[in-house]
Amino acid sequence: MMRLSPFAVQPADNEDGLQWPSIVHIDADIESASRMERLLLDHVGALHVAHCAERGLRLLCTVKPQLLLIRVPLAAVDTAVLLQRIQRLQPELSVLVLTTAEAPDVVAVTTTLERVWLLQEPIQTERLLATIAQCLQCCEQIDHLRLFPRLFMNSPLAMAITDSQRNFIRVNPAFTQITGYTQAEVLGRNPRILSSGKHDGEFYRRMWQILEENDHWCGEIWNRHKDGQLFLEWLNITTLRNADGSISHYVSIFADITQRTAAEAKMRHLAQHDCLTDLPNRSLLHDRLHQALLQAQRSHGLVALVYIDIDHFKNINDCFGHVVGDGLIVNVANALRSVIRETDTVSRLGGDEFAVLLPDVGSLAVAEKLVGKLLNAVANTYQIDGHDFRVTASMGVSVFPYDGREPDTLIRHADSALYLAKNEGRNQYRFFDPVLETHTERYTTIQHNMHKALQANAFRIHFQPKYAMDSQTIVGLEALLRWQDEKLGPVSPGEFIPIAEQTGFIVELGVWLIETVCLTMAQWRASATPLVPVAVNISPLQFHRGDLQVVLSQALARHGIEPALLQVELTEGVVMNRHEPTIIALNRIKALGVAISIDDFGTGYSSLSYLSELPVDELKIDRSFIVKLAEPQHLADKRLTAVPLALIDLAANLGLKLVAEGVETDIQADFLLANGCHVIQGYWFSKPLVAEAVPDVLKRYVGKPSNDT
Ligand code: C2E
Ligand code: MG
Ligand code: MG
Repeated sequence: MMRLSPFAVQPADNEDGLQWPSIVHIDADIESASRMERLLLDHVGALHVAHCAERGLRLLCTVKPQLLLIRVPLAAVDTAVLLQRIQRLQPELSVLVLTTAEAPDVVAVTTTLERVWLLQEPIQTERLLATIAQCLQCCEQIDHLRLFPRLFMNSPLAMAITDSQRNFIRVNPAFTQITGYTQAEVLGRNPRILSSGKHDGEFYRRMWQILEENDHWCGEIWNRHKDGQLFLEWLNITTLRNADGSISHYVSIFADITQRTAAEAKMRHLAQHDCLTDLPNRSLLHDRLHQALLQAQRSHGLVALVYIDIDHFKNINDCFGHVVGDGLIVNVANALRSVIRETDTVSRLGGDEFAVLLPDVGSLAVAEKLVGKLLNAVANTYQIDGHDFRVTASMGVSVFPYDGREPDTLIRHADSALYLAKNEGRNQYRFFDPVLETHTERYTTIQHNMHKALQANAFRIHFQPKYAMDSQTIVGLEALLRWQDEKLGPVSPGEFIPIAEQTGFIVELGVWLIETVCLTMAQWRASATPLVPVAVNISPLQFHRGDLQVVLSQALARHGIEPALLQVELTEGVVMNRHEPTIIALNRIKALGVAISIDDFGTGYSSLSYLSELPVDELKIDRSFIVKLAEPQHLADKRLTAVPLALIDLAANLGLKLVAEGVETDIQADFLLANGCHVIQGYWFSKPLVAEAVPDVLKRYVGKPSNDT
C-alpha cells in the first residue's frame, strides 16, 4: 500500500520503488516510543526504534537513517556526550532532540551543534510532523549547498570565475594543476596571463564577440603554462548576467586536451602511413593524387604517377627472412625519399611495391628525367645484416592527362607499365602505352589458368638431350615444362614460370614436375629403355622452402628410381650466395645422391673461388655466351671466346662436368669440342622432345655411339 507523505520531502525513487525517509528513534520510555512508532508509521513509513543509547548507536550504523529522533535525557547517559558521539559517528546526520521544558542543559548543548534541532514537550502531533519535515528539507538544502563547493574544488575540469571586468576572482585546484597558477597568483588578474601567443587578435576579438551575442563560447585554444609550456585546452565560457541584464561574471570550464589531441593526430597518422617506412600508404596516396589532379586541371599541368617494384625481392625475402626483407624495404624507401622534391609523395603500397606521385612535372621530358633519377637512386648495393644486396627496381609511369584523367585509371595504367618493365627484363622504367593493357589482362589470365591447368593435368614435360660429342652418346636429359592453354595457345615457360614464381604457384608446380619426371622414367624403364640422368629445373622459391629433399626422395622412392638418375638445376644466384641455409640445403640434396647442376652459369657475379667449396657436380654455360660464337669470325674475337674458354678451364680444374647450352650450329659445336667442352645441349643435336619420343632416342644414343647422327 502506498502512503502519501505529509512532508515536503517527497519519497525518492530507487530501484526497489518508492523509498521513504528512514528515521531512527531512541526512546527509553516504551510507551511513548510505541506512540511515536504508530504515529510515524502512519505518516512516514520507516521507523526503527531503540530503547537505549547503545542499541540506538548500533542501529545508526546499520540503518544509516536521514534523521535521528532522540528523547532525552536518557537514564545514566550524558546528553552532550551522546550527541557528540552521534556526530562523530555520522557527521551528516540530522538529529531532532525531544526534551522536557525543564532541561536547560540539553537546550544549551543542542544550540551549539550543527544539524541538531530541538523540540520541547509537550509535543503536538502536527508540530512534530512539521518539524520532522523541516529537518529533512533543511538537511537536503544543506547537502545541496555543500555539494557545489565540493564540486568546484574536486572537479577534474579546470574552473575559473572572473568578474564582469574579466579579472579572476576564483579558480579551482584543477585550474592550478593545468595552468600552474594558484588562486593567489591569479586573483584580480586578466586571463591574458595565460596567452600562448599562438592566436592572433582576430581570434580573441571573434571569441568575445560570440560570447557577447550568445553568452557562451566553446572551442580549442592554445594557452601557456606558468612554466612556459604550451597546452591545448577545450574551453567553455559562459556569461552570467544580473536581473537587469548587465554582466555579473564569466565562468570558464576547460580541460587540457594536448595529449588527447596528440594521440588523435598519431592515430590519424598511423591510419594514413605505413608502419615500417612511415611513408604515406595507399589511401593517403589516393587522396593526394586526387588533389594533384584537381590542381592540374586548373593549371593545365602534368601529373606523373610512378609505380615501383623491387626486382626479385621475393627471392631475398624467402632466402634471408623477413628481417632482412624489411631492412631492404626501409633502405629503398630512404633512397626514393632522398631524390624527390618536397611537393612529391613517395608512398608504400605494400610488400615491395612503392608509388611516387610527381604532381607538377612540367613536361614529359622532365617526368622522364625524374623517373630516371628514381631508378638510379634505388639501384645500389645495400648492406643489411652483414650481407651485401645488389638491388634494382622496375618502374611503370602514367601521366595525366595523356594516360587518364581519373586516379583509378592512372593507377591501373602505371601498373600495366610496371608489368611491362618487369617482363622486359627489369631494372628499367616504362611509360604507359595503350597496347600494354592487354599485357595485364594476359598476366591475370595466365595466373588464373595455370591453376586450372595443373588440376586438369594440362602441363606437359618435354625432354632435351645433353649430348656428348666425343662419345656420340646422350648423357642426360633436361625436363622442360610446356603448357598449351585453351584460350591463349602455347605459353612459353619464359612467360609463365616468372608469374608462377611471383604468385608462389611454382612450388606446387615443381612438386608435380618432380613426381611426373620420376613416373615417366619408371614408364620408360618398363619399356626397356636405358635411362640417363634427368635434370629438373628448381625455382629459387622451391629450393628455399626447405622440404625439397623430402619431395625428391619421396618421388624417387615411390617410382623406384635411383637417386643418381635425377639431377637438379639451380641458377647461380640461388647457389652461390654464401648463405648458411643454402649450403645446408645443397648438402641435403647431395646426400640423397641427387646431382646438382648450376644453370645459366656465367651470368651472375659470383666469386668463382667459392665454387670449389660447394657440393656441385655440373656447370651449364649460359646460352648467351654460345650465341656469340655463331659465325667463324667470332672465334677469332677474344672478347667473345674469353668467357667460354675460362669456364671450360674452370670446370676442368675443379673436376666439374660441363654442358654448353643453346648450341645451334656446327661452328659452335666444333669450337666447343676443339676446346674441351664435349657435352652440349641445343637444337644442333635435338630440340626438346615429347616424352613419347624419348625411349627411341635413348635406345639409339645411350651406351654405344650411333652412326646415325
Ligand atoms: P633453361 O633451364 O636454361 O632451359 C633451357 C632453355 O633453352 C629451354 O627453354 C630450351 O628449350 C632452350 N633451348 C635449348 N636449346 C636451345 C637452342 O639451341 N636454341 C634456343 N634458342 N633455345 C634453346 P625453355 O624450355 O623455353 O625454358 C626456358 C626457361 O624456363 C628454362 O631455362 C628454365 O629456366 C625455365 N623452365 C623451363 N621448365 C622449367 C621447370 O620445369 N621448372 C622451372 N623452375 N623452370 C623451368
Ligand atoms: Mg635449365
Ligand atoms: Mg639454362
